Amino acid sequence: MTKATSSACVTLVGAGPGDPDLLTLKAVKALQTATVILVDDLVHPDVLQHATVSCRIVQVGKRGGCQSTPQAFIEKLMVQEALAGENVVRLKGGDPLLFGRAGEEIAYLQAHGINVVVVNGVTAGLAAVNSLGLSLTHRQFAHGAIMVTGHSPSAQLNSSPVNWEILGHTAHVCRLTLVIYMGITGSKALQNSLLTTMPADTPVAVVQNASALDQRSVIGQLHALHSLIEQAAMASPAIILVGDVLKTLASMQLDASPPAHTYTVALPS
Ligand code: SAH
Repeated sequence: MTKATSSACVTLVGAGPGDPDLLTLKAVKALQTATVILVDDLVHPDVLQHATVSCRIVQVGKRGGCQSTPQAFIEKLMVQEALAGENVVRLKGGDPLLFGRAGEEIAYLQAHGINVVVVNGVTAGLAAVNSLGLSLTHRQFAHGAIMVTGHSPSAQLNSSPVNWEILGHTAHVCRLTLVIYMGITGSKALQNSLLTTMPADTPVAVVQNASALDQRSVIGQLHALHSLIEQAAMASPAIILVGDVLKTLASMQLDASPPAHTYTVALPS
């Protein structure tokens, strides 16, 4: 990799999980000064209101299994625009550094002599936790959390899939909450693998569209994770939470109504 040599720069900006009010001030400033913005598909359209009228907006969304702009094309476009003197912003859902291909993009841009700045955003996992009115690390139940993908790596990456048996065992023994991104499609296999090392009554929650107006959630137990998802027709984008920290929900909901925009179709028994 060569070191950045020019003044060309690309800013990777986190757009947050959905609610456009969750943008950081730094993100707003980056959008206001951008001349080209490349936008991922999980970005709320209102976020683009911060761009100037003359700014060029390029939609480059990609979703698992759908038609998408090839990653190589996006990377080349960023280099081309930055070297042409444009002020390039790459706008990504949540935080750019979590499951956002930022690693590949930073390496590619730097290899082409382009400076890279990253502006953090609120990640979907934390918005999901917030939507349930939880503390992710309530000290009575958890020492920490693991953010992990439920999506198997593509064959080209030459990387092995997550070992859910070991992860479940570790999470259970070390009292770590699992925050699972992209886990809806493979939820049956996920459930069955985790059940080999985690108690069947471990609380789970699924939150779809966290922080957006159409946010919804279901709560239940690990043995019924997949059927909860099917019954409530939970769909991507969604976060699956697994861990005893969700036990606080049962007691909270006795004396407090769920937070706005949240509805619960099943409670832990
Ligand atoms: N960089 C993003 C994650 C991108 S991976 C972030 O930090 O949030 C895409 C996955 O994120 C989705 O499949 C889903 O699991 C999760 N996700 C993104 N937005 C979401 C939302 N509003 N509610 C729930 N999950 C969301």
